[in-house]
Amino acid sequence: MELDCVIMNGNLVIPTQGIMKGSIGIKDEKIAMISDSPDLAKAKETIDAKGKYVFPGVIEPHVHFGLGSKLDEDLITETRSAATGGTSTVITYYRQIEPYDNFVDEFIRLGQERACIDFSLHLGVSSEEHIRSIPKFCDEYGISSYKFMMVFKGEDAKKAGSAELNDGVFYDALQKIKTIDGVLPCIHAENIELIWSIRKKIIDQGRTDPLAWADSRPDFTESEFVRRALYLAELTDCPLYIVHTTSKKALDEVRLARERYSKIFVETCPVYLTHTKEMMEDNLMKVAPPLRSKKDNEALWDGIRDGSIQTVGSDHLALKKESKNGSIWEASMGISGTATVLPALLSEGYHKRDISLERIAEVTSYNAARIFNLYPRKGNIQVGFDADLAIVDLELEKTVTHEMLNSASDFSIYEGWTLKGWPTSTIVRGKMVMQDGEIVGENGYGKYIKRKPVLRNFDKPN
Ligand SMILES: [Zn+2]
Repeated sequence: MELDCVIMNGNLVIPTQGIMKGSIGIKDEKIAMISDSPDLAKAKETIDAKGKYVFPGVIEPHVHFGLGSKLDEDLITETRSAATGGTSTVITYYRQIEPYDNFVDEFIRLGQERACIDFSLHLGVSSEEHIRSIPKFCDEYGISSYKFMMVFKGEDAKKAGSAELNDGVFYDALQKIKTIDGVLPCIHAENIELIWSIRKKIIDQGRTDPLAWADSRPDFTESEFVRRALYLAELTDCPLYIVHTTSKKALDEVRLARERYSKIFVETCPVYLTHTKEMMEDNLMKVAPPLRSKKDNEALWDGIRDGSIQTVGSDHLALKKESKNGSIWEASMGISGTATVLPALLSEGYHKRDISLERIAEVTSYNAARIFNLYPRKGNIQVGFDADLAIVDLELEKTVTHEMLNSASDFSIYEGWTLKGWPTSTIVRGKMVMQDGEIVGENGYGKYIKRKPVLRNFDKPN
């Protein structure tokens, strides 16, 4: 057999197992062989990965294409940005008040025309109609994850252009979702009613400084909601995925709940690992939930190390700086960051905190693949899997500018930071999409990935 490509002499980072020296043979978009010898078989192309580390391609579980930006443009620019950071598959959230029928077909068409990496979709739930249509979207389109923005109540829902959510809708949804194996509700966990009350007092004091934002949404407004959501999940025996977890308090609630109930998955974001609220000199890092303290950063790193946290996503929005104008209360919420997930984990996690490379491969790829039904097609380096790979130079240092991240967003939370450890190649189904920071792939190469729900094994820890 003649192979399409051989990646020789790499250090292969295998999730849950460790690092092996070896070579990977690729044929017809798939990993066809793995060997500890460099001479696999004849190949049309060879890549020498001597001294480098080959990770499973990053699976980015949390981006927002078309939110505060145009979906058709994001599918071009932001998949390029994701590929810059070693990402081979991205799952984007999308929400609207109307039913999703026409949207999903249009989304797939646009993506297959524009994305340079593989892509999939989570849908936001904000009505009974959305809940009723979950089995249909699972079946026909392989959409097996649904998000509940629990902060969408009253004025906050109106501002976001969303219908209102309440605990009743959420409870009904959990009961429905648990009847379909492999489907997962995802929640944004903040108690907006507590936040309203705290925010009013802070605004009445006349505060408009950036820190007022974090002070208006303290950590217990997150952990209180986590506790309540986990209670309802356990009560209905429905699994639950908590997006962008920020605080020690929230993580402690998860650990407590896990002593009784295992069907819980936790995500955090690089910004909550590396930034504190004291670093907010302006409105750029206005995010919800907000930035916390140094103690919370370190608690989240501990959560990655000890397995309390399963995934890291960026919560990426392709926002422009100008959307951050005005007071802290008027500025847009959100940041870009999909290109820097892996470099941030390598630099701040591996180099500075001794988090193992295989653990980084788990939280950036393997776990997301298993949780979001991309396994056993993506998320590992094994024969038969898609040849989705990120080749990493652990010693490469780059000082971040937003330009090098290939996003339409004109700022980065790491602007001016020197991060050590960068992907030098992103390979998607055997094809080179990013090389040395340049996008060499084509828009339109990316495929829509149906995520067929499968029964989970909750006894096998991630
Ligand atoms: Zn988000």
